[in-house]
Amino acid sequence: MSQFADVILPLPLHKYYTYRIPAELKENLSTGSRVIVPFGRKKYYTAIVIFTHNHAPADYETKEIISLLDNEPILRRPQLKFWEWIAGYYFCSVGDVYKAALPSGLKLESETLVSPNPDYEENPDNRLIERESILLDTLSKYPKISVQDLEKESGLRNILPVIRTLLDKEALFITEQIKRKYRPKTETYIKLAFGPEEQEKLRPIFEQLAPAKKQLKLLMAYLELSSFMQRGQFKEVPRNTLLERADVSSSVLSGLIDKGILISYKREISRLDTSGRSAEPAHALNTVQQKALDQIFHSFKDKEVTLLHGVTSSGKTEIYIHLIQEVIQKGRQVLYLVPEIALTTQLTTRLQRVFGDSLAIYHSKFTDNERVEIWNNLLKDKGIRVILGVRSSIFLPFRDLGLVIVDEEHENTYKQQDPAPRYHARNAAIVLASMHGAKTLLGSATPALESYYNAQQGKYGFVELTSRFEDIQLPRILVANTQELRRKKQMTGNISPLLLDEANQALKRGEQVILFQNRRGFAPVIECKLCAWVPKCKYCDVTLTYHKRYHQLTCHYCGYTCEVPRQCPACGHTEIDIRGFGTERIEEDIAQYFPDYQIARMDLDTTRTRKAYEQLIEDFEQHKTQILVGTQMITKGLDFDNVSVVGILSADTMMNFPDFRAHERAFQLMAQVAGRAGRKKRQGTVILQTAQPEHPLIQQVINHDYAGMFHTQLKERQQFSYPPFFRLIYIYLKHRDETILNSVACSYATRLRQVFAHRILGPDLPPVARIQSLYIRKIVLKVENNASMAKVRELLYQAQDDMLKDERFKSVTVYYDVDPM
Ligand code: ADP
Ligand code: ZN
Ligand code: ZN
Repeated sequence: MSQFADVILPLPLHKYYTYRIPAELKENLSTGSRVIVPFGRKKYYTAIVIFTHNHAPADYETKEIISLLDNEPILRRPQLKFWEWIAGYYFCSVGDVYKAALPSGLKLESETLVSPNPDYEENPDNRLIERESILLDTLSKYPKISVQDLEKESGLRNILPVIRTLLDKEALFITEQIKRKYRPKTETYIKLAFGPEEQEKLRPIFEQLAPAKKQLKLLMAYLELSSFMQRGQFKEVPRNTLLERADVSSSVLSGLIDKGILISYKREISRLDTSGRSAEPAHALNTVQQKALDQIFHSFKDKEVTLLHGVTSSGKTEIYIHLIQEVIQKGRQVLYLVPEIALTTQLTTRLQRVFGDSLAIYHSKFTDNERVEIWNNLLKDKGIRVILGVRSSIFLPFRDLGLVIVDEEHENTYKQQDPAPRYHARNAAIVLASMHGAKTLLGSATPALESYYNAQQGKYGFVELTSRFEDIQLPRILVANTQELRRKKQMTGNISPLLLDEANQALKRGEQVILFQNRRGFAPVIECKLCAWVPKCKYCDVTLTYHKRYHQLTCHYCGYTCEVPRQCPACGHTEIDIRGFGTERIEEDIAQYFPDYQIARMDLDTTRTRKAYEQLIEDFEQHKTQILVGTQMITKGLDFDNVSVVGILSADTMMNFPDFRAHERAFQLMAQVAGRAGRKKRQGTVILQTAQPEHPLIQQVINHDYAGMFHTQLKERQQFSYPPFFRLIYIYLKHRDETILNSVACSYATRLRQVFAHRILGPDLPPVARIQSLYIRKIVLKVENNASMAKVRELLYQAQDDMLKDERFKSVTVYYDVDPM
């Protein structure tokens, strides 16, 4: 049996640490088990065993594992492999991945608590030494105390070994006292105190209870519910159900329990909603959809990944449903990834109808307990076949994935920004699938340039759906030239006469309108009319956004909020003007034109809770509201059947964004929001407001010309060495002191140029160059797509190590963003 275990700690460490396995744990401990270990001088952590062996590490003295938390591993072996891949590819530690992967209910708090054992008596053969006595005396004053505090209170130093020996003597507890965040949900059940084989005992009980009418009533209710009358069984019955049926108070029940006739006990029940939903057959596919499905199967024969490029409302979701059915029939599992915002009741109801209880939904806004239960259900293979989930569901303990679907695969929210691991869920899911020997289907009406390129190159299979379900036409797109309209004084506000007219007609016909503005708030900035002073955040390098409702200025990075100044702090002028326009402003403007209609706004500010978000959707679905104003939140996969007019208020703000993906994204957003028009009944109309109607991108949007946009953008990407031809790695450096940061960033860039030459750009100021008082510099590394990432990683880490010779470098935070979005 192995002597040592290598463990993953929930810390950004770049190696595994080895611990000794105490004899009593050797039997049960295995790869994937959670253990409590000491680390550093003062702390305990929940670590995960990755490997057991017999080689003592050469360079440090091992410590002993303190306890084992599970009798069975909570991870499957392939998961650990997947964690290692993520850490390797995204330049972070496996500890970072561990922190992101496990629901917090499975991670015990690192602030370990210690408490005295009240039943402890000193054993005369094994007396306490002085340090132990002091510690126990201190401990007796506290029911629970953290190791750090105990050290302080006792005045002792290095108390870990003392705690350890006291643990051996059973004078104190630790693991039991660590707060377990996950608590199973229990329900109280009632049962007869004897089995059906002893049913002759019932007769004397009836006689005994004759004077106690209520108790008799309760007993009869129990017998009825437990199906004794029909089948002669004494099944357990939930306490609440029983009391309700008998219509007596709980004291009557206690009476029967005291007499030893009934027994009461708690049993663990599931939080997952398994209210016995029965599955219904899926809709039959039409011929176009069926053909696409056949093509997907065909493509799966020799491609790992297939891209389904289907226009909005072509019925991609229906195709997914059929595909999933095929896979789960073979007993394999399916992961269906959607962007957080697209995980709506609209979608879950559609899937639950077909998959019933074999479907589980994994959402970051769910409670931790629910997430732990999904985890355990998968781990113990208790019936979930399909996971419909957000980004982090790639970390669930799948046994045998047969298929991964990534819907809206172009969505940039699949990329985790902060903290590490900064992974892209689509790309990671492809790797996960291949580890399971599963296929991946990427779906989108507006694929990411990278994915479409891979399909063109034959790396991915490719299937297209060019018509909408029931052949509804894609919307016609009309342009309102805002520059000309403003010059001719035909447009003073933010809404063009054309848009007003179309909206008006639609509303009169009883149809609905969506207005899209990719900015929340009332107006992004206020400005002094005289000196052009603009308010900025105290802690970040960003302009504050004006929120009319509270008449306040807010930082969208750190949440800093302040009042609008009465006077310009720079010149004292009192006229401070509003520049630009956000959703709140549009909502207010449109209300003036259409006072008789109900208007709703959907953006981050109005959808802080899941419920608020679903409510907005529901109200619009039920036509309680007629006009919906929103940010890009309204572009995501919503399926409304009565929207005939969509207004895109400013194409220009999207196109002018300083990023190499700006045009691709602007196209995606506009095509997606346009796709909300005329989904069910007939062709819809989109009014696109722009100051540059001749721009090729605008023409591509008007003509629904994805391929045209792809080719234009691809040429630029090639010319300027961007993805998909080059891989980007952003290297970020952060520090409180700008001077130190500047000089360190410069020498780091110089050092990197020695290795990577012209592939290094910068250091530069990122768009927001200071966040929460930390200054930020960015160095860009562009590597050829076919370069070995392992080699790149090695060279980068080497350079970083070299830099550590510079004292100042040690205080700088460095992190990497691979394939940034
Ligand atoms: P997409 O995912 O491509 O946007 P959906 O799958 O949401 O498209 O389909 C659009 C609408 O058409 C949905 O309301 C869906 O219920 C309906 N629909 C699509 N295919 C079928 C089908 N085969 N049978 C019945 N309804 C369908
Ligand atoms: Zn001023
Ligand atoms: Zn801020």
